Amino acid sequence: MTADDPAARLAETHARIARAAATANRSAGAVTLVAVSKTHPVDAIRPLIAAGQRVFGENRVQEAQAKWPELRTETPDLALHLVGQLQSNKAEDAVALFDAIHALDRPSLVSALARAMDRTGRRPALFVQVNIGAEAQKGGCAIADLPALLAAARAADLPVAGLMCVPPAGIEAAPYFALLAKLARDNGLAGLSMGMSGDFETAVTLGATHVRVGTALFGAR
Ligand SMILES: *Cc1c(COP(=O)(O)O)cnc(C)c1O
Repeated sequence: MTADDPAARLAETHARIARAAATANRSAGAVTLVAVSKTHPVDAIRPLIAAGQRVFGENRVQEAQAKWPELRTETPDLALHLVGQLQSNKAEDAVALFDAIHALDRPSLVSALARAMDRTGRRPALFVQVNIGAEAQKGGCAIADLPALLAAARAADLPVAGLMCVPPAGIEAAPYFALLAKLARDNGLAGLSMGMSGDFETAVTLGATHVRVGTALFGAR
């Protein structure tokens, strides 16, 4: 952590994204910074909003429902992304609240989200979470199941924007990011939600369109 003040942390994170984008000949404007505010109270989030941040991520529907209506009343142009796993019985609440959902990982969620979108009339962008390291303990669709899941999502007319992954901890993330980028390309998807506090620069050099950064912006949870 380089600075104590949230505005300085935000500026530093943008500078790091810009430097990484430049090394890959990408435009920094092609990367959306999702500020992951899970576990942090509204009082810790307001300074980042005041510093100009507009896109936030939460990993629990109930926590987001408790925190964000108030913040959105104060600042109507906020966008909220769900970055955690989603239970089917929370699909309607999630569709009502979030502007993007980075957690589509199974066929039962395709039907739950399609129903929720019909009921609410809202169509948040969806990212299909891929279990890129084939880890037993992690969520996400197996690579082998991705074509069928995408076909089901498209058949249900869901707005699939791209792919999302959380690579295995403790080893070099680059090969996993490169693999996710290839899977997105092969499936005609433009969105790539990858990169967290420890590895977002690597993700940006490999094509991330959305980096999900918590600790580097808010400090430790
Ligand atoms: C918590 C979380 C993040 C942010 O992680 P940091 O290491 O704090 O930047 C990103 N993505 C997902 C899915 C998360 O659960």
